[in-house]
This record gives sequence, structure tokens and C-alpha cells, in this order.
Amino acid sequence: MLNIDKIREDFPILKRTVHGKPLVYFDNAATSQTPQIVIDTIVDYYSNYNSNIHRGVHTLSQEATDKYEEARIKVQKHINAKETYEIILTAGTTHSINIVAAGFESLLHKGDELIVSALEHHSNIVPWQMLCEKTGAILKVIPMNDEGSLDMETYHQLLNENTKLVFCNHVSNALGTVNPIEEIIEAAHKVGAAVLIDGAQATPHIKPDVQQLNADFYVASAHKLCGPTGVGFLYGKKEWLEKLPPYQGGGEMIATVSFKKTTYAGLPHKFEAGTPNICGGIAFGAALDYMNSVGFDHIAAYEDELLKYGTEELLKIEGLKIYGTSAKKTAVISFNIDGVHPYDMGAILDKLGIAVRTGHHCAQPIMDFYKIPGTVRASFSFYNTKEEIDVLVAGVKRAKMMLL
Ligand code: PMP
Repeated sequence: MLNIDKIREDFPILKRTVHGKPLVYFDNAATSQTPQIVIDTIVDYYSNYNSNIHRGVHTLSQEATDKYEEARIKVQKHINAKETYEIILTAGTTHSINIVAAGFESLLHKGDELIVSALEHHSNIVPWQMLCEKTGAILKVIPMNDEGSLDMETYHQLLNENTKLVFCNHVSNALGTVNPIEEIIEAAHKVGAAVLIDGAQATPHIKPDVQQLNADFYVASAHKLCGPTGVGFLYGKKEWLEKLPPYQGGGEMIATVSFKKTTYAGLPHKFEAGTPNICGGIAFGAALDYMNSVGFDHIAAYEDELLKYGTEELLKIEGLKIYGTSAKKTAVISFNIDGVHPYDMGAILDKLGIAVRTGHHCAQPIMDFYKIPGTVRASFSFYNTKEEIDVLVAGVKRAKMMLL
């Protein structure tokens, strides 16, 4: 059991008001809030040991290097990667996907096939489309159904000996659907294809075990996990990371440089050109520690309660439709009210202190499927409460009255 009152004390932002009303923060799928311990870690870095890593012999540089490398180990342990060097610290999910997409340019040929799911965030669509344009590879799509789940029968039919890569999110940001990634990975491997799993929305709720999943690549962002923005990770199996060429050239990613020939550093540095987000990486480590201290089993169970309660209460409102009704979903409720534009709903809720996201959630193909411009998305975290859901429900009712 979580002590929610105590947990809320850890998040200073939850004490603020918006338009004179207590903040109700239900935009957790876009970015999570930051506990004091992570804020303290950031302040400590800039107050006490701010310096560049890996190159320095001086004390500050060594302290920063040690802490940064400790953060890498924390990520490794958290997702159960076999080797620390299989963790590349990046600027986030988008950056991680682009590293892999760029790397595959030299491995693909015209006519090779890539498979994407219909439920993806734009960041797991556009880099692959760019890759297809460059290589002549063909992008195929696993369709979705009305409840917002993937059509797995079609997926199995799409796979063949030309399939080189499959990419899919673990959890959909727009609908909350938890995808059957175990089945997706196993089937892809049978035809020799590699699989990249976008864990941006899964990692705040689920502790992934990349070895058990047998994922070739798994990516996520710290800012959805109580960490800072601009940092995340790319997990890749050693064999794949060794096969892929570096993404960017520069300092840190080399072994030797001369005008005749440059040789690259080993993993993970081959993919980490330039000065990284040192403070962000260290704070990411602190955020993982914090979330693990709360416990992912507790988090998942409590958020499930919030999801059930929120779904039941919102569905009592006449004319309200929820998109994404899969039995396996995380605490995301995407909805619309007949005749109400999601932006108008979002603007009124903001005046009541309630932060929700409105629009296509960087997943336009999903909105096209449902033939809607967007949705209102309320996404819950373990620091939210049922009382806050009551405030949302009352706010939605009020907005409906004003707008219809
Ligand atoms: N994939 C999914 C499923 C997401 O929800 C997000 C963030 N909304 C991203 C990718 C992109 O993450 P970032 O903006 O941190 O790179």
C-alpha cells in the first residue's frame, strides 16, 4: 500500500495553484513531475561538482564521471541489461530511435521490409520513413482495431524473410494500450528481424526486463520517470550496437584521430559524441532510485485503481466516449464529448486548475483511424488521487454545460 499523502509531500509542484485553484496534474503521459530528491541532485551537481566527464584528472571531473557512470549502471540494473556498455545515455526516446534508424541505413537494401504498429508516436514513425526514403526499404503497418489494440493476425501475416526490423511501443501514449510485445518480438525473431521497443510510456508503470523480453533495442525518456528532460537511454544488444555505425562524430566517441584515419571508441562511447547531459544523467539515476523506492508493483496496482475509478466516473457523463478500451492498459483515459472540441474542453479545465493534454498526442494515425481531430487525455500517476479525479469529473461536467 502506498502512503499517497506522504508521496505527495515529495513533489513540491503539487502544492501550487493554477488560476487560483489547487493544481490537478493529469498530464503525466507527456511529462511526469519531479520529486525533491531529484531536484536536490540537480542542485548538488551544479553547487558542488559541475565539470566535464571522462577526460579530467581533477577531483571534480572524477566525481562527476563516477556519478554519471553510476547512473548508467542504475539504468542497466533497472531494465536488467546484461552489460553496462549496452546502455547508451541519450537525449531521450526520440534521440535513441534516431540513433538506431540512422545506423540501419548501412544495413538495409531496396525491397527490405520494416514493420511499424498503427499505435505509434510520431517519433517511432518519422525516423523510419526517412530511413525508407534513403534506402528504398518498404514500411508496412500492423493495423489497429476499434478498442485500440493491434491486429496480431495481420502482424503474423506481414512477417516474412524480407522483414528486417519491427518497431512498436510497449504502451501507447495516446490510448494507454499495453501491446503484446513478447509475441511481437518472438515472431519477428523467427524470420530473423530485429525489434525496437519504444518504452517511453511503459517505463513509468512497468519495470521492463530486456533480457527476458529478448528485445534487440529498448528506449525510454527520463522525464516520464520523475527525472529531468533531455535525457534518456538506448538499450541495444551488444551484437547490434557493435554492428551499427556511430550516429554522430566528435569528441568522446573516438579511440584515435588523425587526418589519415580515425578509429572509434568501444561501447557505449561510440554513440556518445560530445559533452552529454551530465547533470541530467545523474538526476535520472536519482529518479530511478526514487521510483524503485516507491516500488513498481505498488505503482502499477494503485494506478490501476485510479484508472478503474476514473473510467467508471467519466463514463457516467452522457455523451462521453473513451478511446482505447483494451483490457490491458495503463492509467491513460483519452476521451471526447459529443459536440465538444477537445481544445475547448482543455482550456476550460485549465481555468479550473486541471492540466490535461488535448490534441492528437503526436499520434495522428490513431486520430485518423477514429476520424477525430484529437482527444482530451487525462493520464494518472502514483501521486494522483481519487479526489483529484472527482475534481476532473466535475470540471468536465461544467465544461460540457458551458460548451453545449
Ligand atoms: N514514444 C512515446 C510512446 C511517447 O509517449 C513519447 C513522448 N510523448 C515519445 C516516444 C518521445 O519521447 P521524447 O519526446 O522524450 O523523446
